[in-house]
Amino acid sequence: MDITFLTLNPESIEPLFSQGVIGRARLSGILNIQAVNIRDYATDKHHTVDDTPYGGGSGMLLKVDIVYTAVSGIKQKAAIKNLKPYVVLTSPGGKVFHQQKACELSQKESLIFVCGQYEGIDARLNDLCIDEEISIGDFVLSGGEMAAAAMANAICRLLPGVLGDEVSAIEDSHSTSLLEYPQYTRPSDFLGQKVPSVLLSGDHARIELWRWQQSFLKTLQIRPELLKNYDFTGLDKKQKKFVDDLHKQQLL
Ligand code: SAH
Repeated sequence: MDITFLTLNPESIEPLFSQGVIGRARLSGILNIQAVNIRDYATDKHHTVDDTPYGGGSGMLLKVDIVYTAVSGIKQKAAIKNLKPYVVLTSPGGKVFHQQKACELSQKESLIFVCGQYEGIDARLNDLCIDEEISIGDFVLSGGEMAAAAMANAICRLLPGVLGDEVSAIEDSHSTSLLEYPQYTRPSDFLGQKVPSVLLSGDHARIELWRWQQSFLKTLQIRPELLKNYDFTGLDKKQKKFVDDLHKQQLL
C-alpha cells in the first residue's frame, strides 16, 4: 500500500512510521509512506498557502488552488505506478473513524491524507478532489497530522504481513464489536493481585469461554451501544446460557 500525507509539517510524519511493525513493513516493501509539503506547491515568492475566509471570521484557510494542485500532482505521480489514490480529508466535521472504516481503507492500494491546518481548507476542495472527510473523534486538534497518522496506523496494521500474528488483529477490541478481554503476563501474583486462575488451568475450552465472557461483560459495562452490532446468532450453548442469565438478571 502507498500512503501519502499532504501536510505543512512533513517532518512530523516520518518518526511516527519508522518504528516497530510499521517500520518493518516499510523495510519489507509492504508499505510505502511519504510526506509531501503543501508549501512546495505555492506559487508566489512568499510561498503563501493560506488566505482569509470570505464573509469574515477569524483564522486562515488553506487555499483551494494550492491544495488542488498538490493533490493532482500526487495523483499524477501515482498514475505512473498504475495507482489511483483514494483521498481522505482529516476534519473534525467528518464522519467518525472506526475499526470497520480502517478495514475498508486497508483494501485500497493507495491513500492520500490531506492534513488541514489553521481553520481548515476551502470547502470547494470537497467536491474537487476529496473522496471522504473523516474525523478521529469529537474534539478539535490544531492540525490534521496526528489524526491522519492515527488512521494510517490503524489501517497499516491490518495489511497482510504487518502484524507477526495474523490472529491478533482479528481478536483486537472492535474487530468483533466487543472490547478485548483482559490479558495478563508473569508474575502470576503481584502485590497480592492474582491472575485469574482459569488462565493457569491449561483448559483451552474454559479459557476461551472465560475470555469471551469477559469481553462481553466489559463491553456491556463500558460501551453497551456496541452490542447493537453484535451477532448473537453464532453463539454456542454455553454462551447462550451466559447471555440468558444476564437477561434474567436484567443486566442486558
Ligand atoms: N475550524 C475547523 C477546525 C480546524 S482544526 C472546524 O471547526 O471544523 C485544523 C485541522 O486539524 C483541520 O483542518 C483538520 O485537518 C485537523 N483536525 C482537527 N480536529 C480533528 C479531528 N477531530 N479529526 C480529524 N482531523 C482533525
